[in-house]
Amino acid sequence: MRALTKLTAGPGLDLVERPEPTCGPTDVKIRVLRAGLCGTDLHLQEWDDWAASTVHPPLVIGHEFYGEVVEVGDDVTSVNVGDRASGEGHIVCGTCRNCRAGRRHLCIRTKGIGVNRDGAFADYVVIPATNVWVQPPELDPDLGAVFDPLGNATHTALQWPMVGEDVVITGAGPIGVMAAAIARHAGARYVVVSDASDYRLDLARDAGADLTINVTRESLADAQRSLGMKEGFDIGLEMSGAAPAVTDLIANMNHGGRIALLGLPHQDYELDWGKVITHMITLRGIYGREMYDTWYAMSQMIATSQVFREAVAQVITHRFPAEEWEKAFATARSGQCGKVLLDWS
Ligand code: NAD
Ligand code: ZN
Repeated sequence: MRALTKLTAGPGLDLVERPEPTCGPTDVKIRVLRAGLCGTDLHLQEWDDWAASTVHPPLVIGHEFYGEVVEVGDDVTSVNVGDRASGEGHIVCGTCRNCRAGRRHLCIRTKGIGVNRDGAFADYVVIPATNVWVQPPELDPDLGAVFDPLGNATHTALQWPMVGEDVVITGAGPIGVMAAAIARHAGARYVVVSDASDYRLDLARDAGADLTINVTRESLADAQRSLGMKEGFDIGLEMSGAAPAVTDLIANMNHGGRIALLGLPHQDYELDWGKVITHMITLRGIYGREMYDTWYAMSQMIATSQVFREAVAQVITHRFPAEEWEKAFATARSGQCGKVLLDWS
């Protein structure tokens, strides 16, 4: 089969022929139809310190995908050949305290598809049946391929009820834009999104943001002023990983405000801890998706609201055949894009 592979420790990737993965008794083999590029894949391509310390080549990369089930293991009863499916990319141990309590997103031994084991930038991927999310047959395959990042956005945005709340999202990457759609859907009053890219802020506005802030020209205080807000934002969703974004967030939260942090910082940074403490601001780190409540919630939002479906679909701005993976990676790196998909069909 074709597989986009990290062959040796160092920069670069190769599209090579590899043997198809084999399906164990509790596994499911999926013919990949679409796959999405994520920041992780760019780190793996460039081979930064994180990649060098995490990955053991050879490795097929890629973890955002949708496809058709072509084989199920002898012990699998929950998935059938011919099902259309997306996949949860975190494979948990099932035996640690959190796993046994049903808090699988907090597994202490979680393994990533396309990071710690072979992934989905290939004609076929094998995952445990428990990681398969069977999709309705009518779902657009492109939408099926973005359930992983949509799940990050959903997990982050639904930490607290949003009805009537003023919500600010820092970072209008694909996940920040999807979070704007979720905040709109979940009943926020104002949804404000910040980024340094006008291209991406346009996507956020189309996803349902009331106001966008280009941080090269304005700040969240300007957003508050133009909306006539007097006390600060109630809920912040940090989706940039940028230290200045967090500083501006903390300066513009109402007392008692709550911030969910998904964006991964490139390095440690300082915070105004005095404000965090005296304003009683909650900071909550977010990882992955809840297995499988997040999957349930996003599936129902997609199934029940055409507005929501369209808001998520417009985040997918570029599609490339798998052979043109280099162009796809260059596009994702340019930032002049929303979600970039590879077509493996
Ligand atoms: P992305 O890199 O495409 O988007 C980040 C955006 O933040 C970019 O558009 C960038 O222009 C913007 N930005 C940079 N500085 C900013 C600032 N000062 N203020 C506002 N915006 C700023 O990433 P994505 O795929 O949308 O993912 C969002 C973040 O979530 C990334 O940091 C990613 O690493 C992280 N992530 C975390 C998890 C997790 O489980 N915690 C999972 C997936 C992604
Ligand atoms: Zn575990």
